[in-house]
Amino acid sequence: MPLFHARSAARPHGPDRPLSDRATRALADARPVPFWTDRPERPDPRPALTGAAPRTDLLVVGGGFTGLWAALQAKEADPSREVVVVEAGRLADGASGRNGGFMAPSLTHGLAQGVACWPDEMGTLDRLAAGNFDGIVATLERHGIDADLHRPGELTLALTEHQVPSVHESYELHRAHGVPVELLDADQARARVDSPRYLAGMFDPEVALVDPARLVWGLARAAEALGVRIHEHTRATGFDAEGSGVRVRLDAGSIHAGRVVIGTNASQGVLKRFSAWVLPVYDHVLMTEPLTPAQLAAIGWEGREGLTDAGNQFHYYRRTLDDRVLFGGYDANYHFPGRIDPALEQNDASHGLLADHFLDLFPQLEGIRFTHRWAGVIDTTSRFTPVFGTALGGRMAYAVGYTGLGVASTRFGAAVALDLVDGKDTELTRLGMVRRKPVPFPPEPVRYAAVTATRASLAAEDRTGRRNLWLKALDRMGVGFDS
Ligand SMILES: Cc1cc2nc3c(=O)[nH]c(=O)nc-3n(C[C@H](O)[C@H](O)[C@H](O)COP(=O)(O)OP(=O)(O)OC[C@H]3O[C@@H](n4cnc5c(N)ncnc54)[C@H](O)[C@@H]3O)c2cc1C
Repeated sequence: MPLFHARSAARPHGPDRPLSDRATRALADARPVPFWTDRPERPDPRPALTGAAPRTDLLVVGGGFTGLWAALQAKEADPSREVVVVEAGRLADGASGRNGGFMAPSLTHGLAQGVACWPDEMGTLDRLAAGNFDGIVATLERHGIDADLHRPGELTLALTEHQVPSVHESYELHRAHGVPVELLDADQARARVDSPRYLAGMFDPEVALVDPARLVWGLARAAEALGVRIHEHTRATGFDAEGSGVRVRLDAGSIHAGRVVIGTNASQGVLKRFSAWVLPVYDHVLMTEPLTPAQLAAIGWEGREGLTDAGNQFHYYRRTLDDRVLFGGYDANYHFPGRIDPALEQNDASHGLLADHFLDLFPQLEGIRFTHRWAGVIDTTSRFTPVFGTALGGRMAYAVGYTGLGVASTRFGAAVALDLVDGKDTELTRLGMVRRKPVPFPPEPVRYAAVTATRASLAAEDRTGRRNLWLKALDRMGVGFDS
């Protein structure tokens, strides 16, 4: 969920670094599952779709934020439209139920990325971003969705001397674009959240926090209340043009759909072309036990801001409303040749490093225990924003590749996909970010080598504050590696 800086996947001590004793103790009882979906309020699974199902006007593939926003917006726009959602696993099993819950309005993966890629469209993109954020808030109110949405803002913190100027630069850029950010020196940052590591900070009041799984479940319930049918444990395995629509093959049946919207995030193989643009990157997360009043008093953090730091390899952390701390990020692991496998979610090196970093930031919390440890797959593109397009002669449209900043922008992505699949010429479909695809990643094994070189270069920049020739060359090509 970075807002203005590129993100590395480097692991400076290598995959075999041993767990420290304090990390071992802190992680000893952690359940190897995402906190958000490991709660009794998780709804029962909806039935799978099997056999030859009757036709539907719109089939949505993927039961994460993109898919559910597509279903809900389609039904709200036209209540007579038959809408079916198929989800291969369980709702919220994907990134939408595993994330940090930072809800930044940006549609461009932060202001700096937007200015770099679409300088002439930033006014429009900012207006659309604000409208999209307001649309989320209004939808939650309209449907009574309680997803703990609150807007405490976000602090971006400098942890090293060479991060201080980058925080200052970001502050200047945001002010120049009318974002009411505040610049904090070390004392002011520490007055908000007391870490001895903080050297400077920027406060952005526009960022919100949400309980992501509750948002998924709430969107699903709202869509169903309008008549959308949702099927879990139902994988779309192939798409064939049939008449004016699409025959969608399912793992245990098929359905004919007038139109299809695809919101399958990093999943490979749904459409072959995705693998050129979307790289699956593993991001790791920890959740603490609820903090005691004494522990809270020791760190302050009364404003409940979302926190992040300004390096390439950055952490993101936040309080939940029951006063746990979610702490994620830093490592972002790409597994040759784009492997996605639940076995990769538990990674002692990455989780141990996070536990150590947490205690470095907050030595006052020595002795704290983590209750959950998990990972999720980020759908990374070379420009850190989604790739949009159509297939099968316009019968299908897709929005994939949010690169770690999709909690808010998936609603926008779903709206774009709906306009595309309905063949509409709108302000959204005319955007450069919609009309043009990101630079494709090279095929394997060159891809893995390029990712490795980029990771190493970003880690070196974090250590030295200097951008090397490789990164400068990528900058010139408008290509990056991020999560
Ligand atoms: C660890 C982590 C932390 C993050 N933190 C943040 C954050 O704090 N803020 C932020 O803005 N963003 C964050 N993100 C990114 C954000 O979570 C995603 O951008 C967003 O959830 C993407 O939603 P989606 O619906 O496109 O994908 P998903 O939620 O992954 O949903 C896609 C669904 O498609 C299903 N699917 C795949 N293939 C098929 C098929 N063939 N048939 C049927 N179903 C299929 C999958 O099972 C999955 O449920 C984070 C991501 C991760 C992994």
